[in-house]
Amino acid sequence: MHTSAVSYGAMLGIDLERADHGLLDDFAIVATPAARGLSQLVLRTDVAGMPLEWIDYKEAARLYTQEQVAYTCGSLLYELYGGTNARTGRRTVLEVNSIVATVGHTGNPGNTRHDYVPPLNNQTLFRRDAYLCMYCSQRFASRELSRDHIRPFSQGGTDIWTNVVAACRRCNNQKASRTPEQARMQLIAVPFTPTYAEYIFLKGRRVLADQMEYLVAHFPRSSPLHDRIQRWLS
Ligand SMILES: [Zn+2]
Repeated sequence: MHTSAVSYGAMLGIDLERADHGLLDDFAIVATPAARGLSQLVLRTDVAGMPLEWIDYKEAARLYTQEQVAYTCGSLLYELYGGTNARTGRRTVLEVNSIVATVGHTGNPGNTRHDYVPPLNNQTLFRRDAYLCMYCSQRFASRELSRDHIRPFSQGGTDIWTNVVAACRRCNNQKASRTPEQARMQLIAVPFTPTYAEYIFLKGRRVLADQMEYLVAHFPRSSPLHDRIQRWLS
């Protein structure tokens, strides 16, 4: 993976909000082919390289101008061109890469705590289960999946990662308020609680190959996501 030294562009005078609305004549942003537009998010890590969050190019540019960027990895996504320096006659340019490591401590719980539990929502749950119904093993679109409680509420089940799976409507209806044993249905995989790095991956709207490679390197060796990503890509 390519790592480049950071050059702190003299971008402090650029109002990114105004620039975003085309209000600065001398401001230009160029998205590289890798970014495929301005909506591609940047993976932010701490200085040790632990994944922290997804940020947009404006947030990334702010981190550069606030001298929060320690180093960058991955590929070049954006070039932000600022005003021309009157003294040097040169235009300022700030390069934003797909992975940006920032200095300082963030106090992010997922980074330090091994018992961290990410919030449960359907988007990340369905991704965890690779959009497969965990009963009939067919693949479905997100809108066709539902959150099945393996042990139903009515039998003391709770809404936690290890008690929920993606299920198609047909299987969910068939199972009803029963356990898989009671319904004589078998789970195709054991549900698990994602680690922080896994959760960041699952949350990603569009994860670039270098970002994925970076995140996967932070997954536990036993993570079921290794296999699921391979199947996803094939
Ligand atoms: Zn099903």
